[in-house]
Amino acid sequence: MSFSLHGIPVSRGIAIGRAYLIAPAALDVDHYLVDAPQIEGEIERFRAALKVVQAELDRLSSDLSADAPSEVGAFINVHTMILKDAMLVQETIDLIRTRRYNVEWALTEQLERLSRHFDDIEDEYLRERKADVQQVVERILKALAGAPSAAALVDGNADASDDMIVVAHDISPADMLQFKTQTFQGFVTDLGGRTSHTAIVARSLGIPAAVGVAHASALIRQDDLIIVDGDHGIVIVDPAPIVLEEYSYRQSEKLLEQKKLQRLKFSPTQTLCGTKISLLANIELPEDSRAAVEAGAVGVGLFRTEFLFMNHKDRLPEEEEQFEAYRRAVELMGGLPVTIRTIDVGADKPLDSIGADGYESAPNPALGLRAIRWSLSEPQMFLTQLRAILRASAYGQVRILVPMLAHAQEIDQTLDLIREAKRQLDDAGLPYDPGVRIGAMIEIPAAAIALPLFLKRVDFLSIGTNDLIQYTLAIDRADNAVAHLYDPLHPAVLHLIAFTLREAKRAGVSVSVCGEMAGDPQLTRLLLGMGLTEFSMHPSQLLVVKQEILRANLAALEKPVADVLAAFEPEEVQAALKRLSQA
Ligand code: PEP
Ligand code: MG
Repeated sequence: MSFSLHGIPVSRGIAIGRAYLIAPAALDVDHYLVDAPQIEGEIERFRAALKVVQAELDRLSSDLSADAPSEVGAFINVHTMILKDAMLVQETIDLIRTRRYNVEWALTEQLERLSRHFDDIEDEYLRERKADVQQVVERILKALAGAPSAAALVDGNADASDDMIVVAHDISPADMLQFKTQTFQGFVTDLGGRTSHTAIVARSLGIPAAVGVAHASALIRQDDLIIVDGDHGIVIVDPAPIVLEEYSYRQSEKLLEQKKLQRLKFSPTQTLCGTKISLLANIELPEDSRAAVEAGAVGVGLFRTEFLFMNHKDRLPEEEEQFEAYRRAVELMGGLPVTIRTIDVGADKPLDSIGADGYESAPNPALGLRAIRWSLSEPQMFLTQLRAILRASAYGQVRILVPMLAHAQEIDQTLDLIREAKRQLDDAGLPYDPGVRIGAMIEIPAAAIALPLFLKRVDFLSIGTNDLIQYTLAIDRADNAVAHLYDPLHPAVLHLIAFTLREAKRAGVSVSVCGEMAGDPQLTRLLLGMGLTEFSMHPSQLLVVKQEILRANLAALEKPVADVLAAFEPEEVQAALKRLSQA
């Protein structure tokens, strides 16, 4: 039966393919009693699932590349040991035998018991093994359900074909990041908002995606034929032949458009009236620099380093490992500037290695110990990162960007720590660029309003519109329940951006926009008209934004942009935007 579902469009284009459902990680299982004659069969089911997981771990282990961090191998070993441990295996079998619990129930009951023991252990290392036991149990439960896990999919374990569309309840930014190495046509999730980090990473893959599609993972079945309309956030399940034909046509039109855009790659980026504009790239991993260069970016405007820190069980990467990653990005950019942002964890970007005493237990993580606040609370960790970034500056043009600053003392403490990191490198005789430029993200309304604090202290600014919108409108950017209120065109947001651009220009401090607004071609004219000359976005968006820039005449944008900024009623804003699109 054909039906459609509606969500939030996060990555443009049309995907047509077979649904590939990823089981949620939640330990939400069926509970029932097994009849006595079926008990041995139930135990057999358990043993078969253990074998599947063992094979998954063996494959992970044999596929490990020689340069994989040693911890990855160690982590697979720990999981293998847990998988064979009598406390898990034998006790679960006993529960099936004595209580006649179905295997999923027995397994989660045993996990519950083990977890209670772990909580009482004093030794921190052993206490942390609780998370490993939980992950192993999740793997077994997924094997029992016969559904592929995100890990299985990225490990290449799953039987993935070229036309698959991933459907999941939710995908963590870390899992999404791993999909970078897989080919699939699109993705759909039940949860998420337009600028949740999962959506941002999806956009960087350049494939159609819709998030916040309520109940998609419950209503769509494995292998259903589905269409994802990433322009409108629509998912059509089991489409009628005529609908399929229409979407296939639209899909080929779009591919043609994308091909045509490639022609713009080598032309200089300037407006019709000759103003030069810099198009920079946002990256999550050093290897993304290849796509940045390929798309014609003139540098990296935002390297979100926290993604390097994800998928690291139990620890943060050491200075050497970080330094190698930053240096790789710098070298891949071949002399073009690379803006490395210091770690921005918390809110929808949790780290496995930071426990409940960190931000995860915060009542409101988006307003808690996130980004620079966390870095300043962990000075040794922060100094390690600063040294690694500074060392990479010996290999090319590096700029340091600091997220979520709001207070003068935060800026001053950060600058002090950068000076301290330089001193430590001097003592160690390690080279770095002493003139490395320091910038601040303007992404908290207080920072925009108190801009002189920043203009006096830092070398450049970058407006993070994703958070600026979140905090100005008090909308959690990852919460689809309030996604309809997340509005880049709210007059308050536009005034903060316009004010920041104007004041920075007046002070002679360079300023870019690196939030998702910079990569939205429908907003290019508006930002140009406000005076923006540096845009930083995912490489996949670069050419479509460039096309808008090549067609724009700044003088003609002045009046309609002034009208947008003077408008407060939504209809007036829309009318002025319409005039702007025709200017
Ligand atoms: C932003 O907030 O706009 C930004 C670029 O940073 P992030 O999306 O990583 O929070
Ligand atoms: Mg931000």
